[in-house]
Amino acid sequence: MTPKQPLLFIGHGSPMNAIEDTQYTREWQRIGKTLGTPRALLMISAHWITEGETRIATAEHPEMIYDMYGFPEELYQVDYPTSGSAAIANEILALFSAFPIQSDSERGFDHGVWSVLVHLFPEHNIPVIALSLDYDQPPEWHYEFGKILRMLREQGILIIASGNTVHNLSKVSFGSPVSYDWAREFDERIQKGVREKNYEDIVDFRSWGTISKLAHPTYDHLLPLIVALGAVRQEDSVAFFAQGIDLGSVAMTSMIWK
Ligand code: ZN
Repeated sequence: MTPKQPLLFIGHGSPMNAIEDTQYTREWQRIGKTLGTPRALLMISAHWITEGETRIATAEHPEMIYDMYGFPEELYQVDYPTSGSAAIANEILALFSAFPIQSDSERGFDHGVWSVLVHLFPEHNIPVIALSLDYDQPPEWHYEFGKILRMLREQGILIIASGNTVHNLSKVSFGSPVSYDWAREFDERIQKGVREKNYEDIVDFRSWGTISKLAHPTYDHLLPLIVALGAVRQEDSVAFFAQGIDLGSVAMTSMIWK
């Protein structure tokens, strides 16, 4: 029996983290070495947004998706050659009678998946299954959805949610390392809610006033965290890693529950 799996939220930030040696990628590598060999990885990436339905990838040989523009050629050469698993995807599908999910035999790995897996699991020896986020559903729905995923942790499946606690690309600043006050404030409130297990406050982030629109003009990068919060068990303890605000307005805060 594979032991109960931890649960991860990774703040993935810039796709360049896939090929650069940064304070964040070193932290991902450090955590990756503690994770053993799960039976499968279930990836919930901010870069697979669907509207009106949730999809699960069933391809046995997922293709790479280079869903970013204007980056150096080297980034478009990154490969993450691991298998998918229709069998495990179907096990996950079977849990969701109350939340119907569509299977998707075409979907591959977006950069929210591969930019972190190249560091967490560099050996490409574990099947990876991707699950989409239905942007038509409110945050509360995603939190309830995560509660159903929770039981996969006892079945040897490591859930990795990949987004950012603060993500405003229109405010990104490449020249200045100074982060915005609203970015720090929002990230700190997220961390406080996680530490105190006040998940309802996080799910209700749209009521936090002006900081919520500044931190997430669209909230696709926060939804993976909200799904992950649903999958936390009462007895889990959380540790933060890779903390910091990159480019002024992208919080890299990552979390592991076990
Ligand atoms: Zn992203």
